[in-house]
Amino acid sequence: MEILDQLRQYQDLFAKIELYHAEMGKRNDKVEDFEKKISEMLTERAPHEERMTQGRALARKFESDVADLESKITKSRDQLASATQASEYSGLKSQIEKHESEKVALEENLLAIFSKIEEIELGISDLDQRLANAKEEYLELKSRVSKENQEFESEISQLSTPLEEARSKVDAEVLEVFDRLQPGLGSNILVNVDGSNCGGCHVSLAPQILERIRQKKEVVFCNFCGRILECR
Ligand SMILES: [Zn+2]
Repeated sequence: MEILDQLRQYQDLFAKIELYHAEMGKRNDKVEDFEKKISEMLTERAPHEERMTQGRALARKFESDVADLESKITKSRDQLASATQASEYSGLKSQIEKHESEKVALEENLLAIFSKIEEIELGISDLDQRLANAKEEYLELKSRVSKENQEFESEISQLSTPLEEARSKVDAEVLEVFDRLQPGLGSNILVNVDGSNCGGCHVSLAPQILERIRQKKEVVFCNFCGRILECR
């Protein structure tokens, strides 16, 4: 049936273009997913940086506390050397001991902070390495996708005139059905009968419908999904 042949020609072109659009969409989604992944990695980096800054500030404070204690100890030692009274001597001695034990405790804390900082640094450098790899991979993906999508674009633009021509040949009533159903059902509006079922929704077709389709004298629609049926 000529009406259906014309529709099929238009539908085939339409479907091909849809397919190219879908392929482009898939590729763009991949690029977007990758961008999300990288931004998640960057988000992951921020708290590490913050802990590192805190750790360094704490280390500086402890270092200056240690220096203070050292100068106090030195001062007390000087006083100790010139102490004349026993009470003064023992007071200074115990003060020195106290400061020394405080200094030891601070230095232990400082070591713990340094090892924590080192740990954070390793974490950050590992993250940076992964980030660098991901960025490299992302750039490759992006350039590949843009190249592939350009090819799809050019295929699509080459099909635009044939599509328009094919469309202009399609019977107006049939075209109206196609345009109405296509957004919901996709580009498979003219379907072949599959055994005795609609090739679109697979509902079983009544024998008289099947007979009308076989006669090829009129356009027959699926009662259930509204698609146009053909027997080939
Ligand atoms: Zn159907």
